Amino acid sequence: MKKRNRHSAQVYIDGVLTGDRVILSQAITLVESALSSDQMLAEEVMSAVLPNTGKSVRIGITGVPGVGKSTFIERFGQLVLEQGLKLAVLAVDPSSQSSRGSILGDKTRMEVLSMDKRAYIRPSPSGTTLGGVSARTREAMLLCEAAGFDVIFIETVGVGQSEIAVKGMVDFFLLLMLAGAGDELQGIKKGIIEMCDALIINKADGENREAAKRAKREYANALHLFPARENSWLPQVLTCSGLEGDGLESIWEMIETYKNKMISNGFFEANRAEQRVRWMHDHIGYLLESSFYQNEVIERSIQEELLEIKSGNVSAIKKARELVQIFMNQIRPE
Ligand code: GDP
Repeated sequence: MKKRNRHSAQVYIDGVLTGDRVILSQAITLVESALSSDQMLAEEVMSAVLPNTGKSVRIGITGVPGVGKSTFIERFGQLVLEQGLKLAVLAVDPSSQSSRGSILGDKTRMEVLSMDKRAYIRPSPSGTTLGGVSARTREAMLLCEAAGFDVIFIETVGVGQSEIAVKGMVDFFLLLMLAGAGDELQGIKKGIIEMCDALIINKADGENREAAKRAKREYANALHLFPARENSWLPQVLTCSGLEGDGLESIWEMIETYKNKMISNGFFEANRAEQRVRWMHDHIGYLLESSFYQNEVIERSIQEELLEIKSGNVSAIKKARELVQIFMNQIRPE
C-alpha cells in the first residue's frame, strides 16, 4: 500500500468543524483507510470531533435494487431540506467489493440533491476495505454530524449483513418494498422485517395504487403477529410514491413522532449508548484484523501456503490457528 499525502490532524478537525466539504470528504477517506498510520490520525480526528456529534437524526434506508431507493432519497431528501435541515446521504454497498465499482451513492442518481449545497452525498467506497465497508460508515456518519448535518440517511442494498451493521448505527430503519413483488412475507427475510421501524410500500402511483393499499393492509396485519418490542413501537406500514412525492410528508411526520416518543421514554439515548458499546467491539475486531493482515510475516506465510490450502491438503482451520499463534507470538514474544 502506498503512503498517501495527509493533512495534520488539526487541518481535518478545523475543516470538519467548519463544514468544509472538501476536508470532510478527505476526512472520510482517512477513516476508511486501513493503513495503521492513517488509523492513528483518524483516531485523533475522531476523538476531537466527537463532542460535536450526536445531534442528527440517523435514518437507515434499505430495499432491493429497483425498489426505488435513489428516487425516494432524491425526493424525500428535498423534503428534509425544505424543513430547513441539512442532509448527508451515505451508502453502504457490499457489492462494490466484487464489482470494483460503486453502485450506490453514485451522485448522478440524485441529481437535484447532489447540486444542493445543503446536502452532501458520499459515494460508497469501492475496492476492498479491511473490516468491511459498513464499519467505517459509522465514522463517516459522525464526521458528517460534526460538520453540521442534521439528518443522515444511510442507504444499503439487499438484505443481509450490511443491514444488521446499519441497524447498529441508526435511530430509525426504513424498509422500502413493492406491492405484488413477493407479496407474502416470505419474500423478505423475517429478520429484516423485525429490524425495521417502518415498512414503506413504494411506487404507490398510477395503476399500482390499489395494489399498494392492499399490500399495506396485509403487511400491517402480519406485523401484528410479531412480538412486541422493548421500546413499545409498533412498526408502521405506509405507502408512498418516491417518483411523484405522494406520502412523503407522512413518512417524515412518523419519524418525528418516533423520535419524540423514544426521547421521552428513554429508548433513544439507551439505544445510542448500546450502539457505542457495539462500536467499540466492532472497532476492536477491525483493528485486530487489519494489523493481522498487514503483518509482513503473516502476509508471507499466507502467500506461501496458499496452494496447499487451496488443494485441501492442509486443514484451513488448523492453518488459521497457526497463523493467529504466529501473530500473537510476534506481539508478545514468549
Ligand atoms: P433503486 O435501485 O432502489 O435505487 O431504484 P431506483 O430509484 O433507481 O428506481 C428503479 C426504477 O423504478 C427506475 O426506473 C425508477 O424510475 C422507477 N421508480 C422509482 N420510484 C418510483 C415510484 O415511486 N413510482 C414508479 N412508478 N416508479 C418508480
